[in-house]
Amino acid sequence: NMLLFNVPCVIGVCTMHHMLQKVYMEQYQIRQQLEHLVVHDQLTKVNNRNKLKELSNIRGEMVAFSDIDVSMLLIDIDFFKQVNDEFGHEAGDVVLAHLAKTMKESVRVTDYVIRWGGEEFLIILPGCATEQALLIAEKLRKKVEESDNGVCPITISVGVAKHPGGDYHTTIKKADEALYMAKKAGRNNTALYEEK
Ligand code: GH3
Ligand code: MG
Ligand code: MG
Repeated sequence: NMLLFNVPCVIGVCTMHHMLQKVYMEQYQIRQQLEHLVVHDQLTKVNNRNKLKELSNIRGEMVAFSDIDVSMLLIDIDFFKQVNDEFGHEAGDVVLAHLAKTMKESVRVTDYVIRWGGEEFLIILPGCATEQALLIAEKLRKKVEESDNGVCPITISVGVAKHPGGDYHTTIKKADEALYMAKKAGRNNTALYEEK
């Protein structure tokens, strides 16, 4: 009698356990997918602005990098409107995705490539001093100029700024000023923000 009672009981418990495990795994996978979606750009597959929020505290300080040099690159495609006008928006999207891939391949796995806006990208280089950041920016600029994205040749302008700690928005503003200088100097250029 004991055996007759125990066998279905064990089967029942095992089935229940298996079902719960399956539900838990599904929930876990959905959670992972959602977390990935929140910090990634769907078109270019690189990070979006939310990544910066994830990296910093309420005051915009990137606390994990407080003891090391950090540099930032702000990148903007030159005359990108013309690409859309001439080849169409979908071709423009292809160019954006290709550029993002080129940038991702040009930096270390510990660096962050972020789609900052439409055709603007931000690269955060932790553990990288300004001189080295300038070299990386120049290398990337040349690589983009020479690479084939399948649509048309493009160039980028790059603004470089040292992040001295504090609110990251301040450094992005500096990189944006440098980017403006690079554009003003004729585009397909790299410029460093000069501290005033
Ligand atoms: P500049 O050299 O001064 O940067 O000139 P630009 O033409 O690149 O700058 P402008 O700001 O005039 O144009 C940016 C263009 O980027 C306009 C907009 O349609 C395009 N753009 C923004 N986001 C996307 C996108 O997701 N896909 C496509 N295809 N185009 C986009
Ligand atoms: Mg722009
Ligand atoms: Mg542009």
